[in-house]
Amino acid sequence: MVRLARSGVIGVALPVYSSCMTDATQRWQIGSATITALVESETARVPPQFFFPSITADDVRSMDWLADEDGIADPGGAIAMRVQAFVVQIGTRTVLVDPCVGNGKQRSLPFWNDLSTPWLDRFHEAGFSVGDIDTVVHTHLHDDHLGWDTQRIDGEWTPTFANARHLYVGNELDWAATEERRTGQDPFGDSIEPILRAGLADVVAADAELGDGLRLISTPGHTPGHVSLAIDTGGEPLVISGDLMHHQLQCGDTSIAEVGDCDAALASRTRAAFLDDCCSNGTVVAGTHFAMAPLGRVERAGAAWRFRRLA
Ligand SMILES: [Zn+2]
Ligand SMILES: [Zn+2]
Repeated sequence: MVRLARSGVIGVALPVYSSCMTDATQRWQIGSATITALVESETARVPPQFFFPSITADDVRSMDWLADEDGIADPGGAIAMRVQAFVVQIGTRTVLVDPCVGNGKQRSLPFWNDLSTPWLDRFHEAGFSVGDIDTVVHTHLHDDHLGWDTQRIDGEWTPTFANARHLYVGNELDWAATEERRTGQDPFGDSIEPILRAGLADVVAADAELGDGLRLISTPGHTPGHVSLAIDTGGEPLVISGDLMHHQLQCGDTSIAEVGDCDAALASRTRAAFLDDCCSNGTVVAGTHFAMAPLGRVERAGAAWRFRRLA
């Protein structure tokens, strides 16, 4: 892993918990793919029940392997999580996955409302320009996975990545457009409609082949049309998991639901099948909300699994 930058404290925190020190930009080479993590926010010392209502700090402490993973769970049983995007470079392709919350978006969750973060500065400091991105993949259409698709310019929400095809899985797009999803907060209005109006959107299947060794795999449950991005360069397989897991602890018990899971039972089955497959194939997993060291491999541990960060 090449550490590109150390930006110190990342200034966006949950209201009562703490931002933590981390690398805001990290880069790995996996086979012939280069993957860069661009962090928007990282928060530590979060009580696990904030995201996982069925568990307590004692449950986290009982997964003793988490303590070896350098800060993702602390001795008191609190956890750390990130909001981050990944950029995958393979051949001539430069693909952005899940562009975070974005700036200036009006959101009902206070810790995502009207943000002002230097995420786009980090994107540039990592060597990218907005025109480089040829494809934007959304694992799903929650607020924290599409925000940087647009920026407010002269009062209008305007596409950021004007050369990119923005991919939306059909049933996920339908779900995001429902009246229920559009009350109180409106990622569809400020982050999706401008892309549709600009002709930059492609509606794709949940198992779409994207070329150059990239393909979507259907991983429903967290949302109806949730997908993960598989990258197979002929060497080590890599997958960006999205929100089928929110924290490494869900490897240790796939039945642990995250508070935002639309269909918790389906999400649990999806996690188990996904982890079994990744374990069998030696796939490197990039966890979209995983803090500190978001890439690792899955090892069998009794009836479940454990996550081992890449060295
Ligand atoms: Zn989500
Ligand atoms: Zn998320």
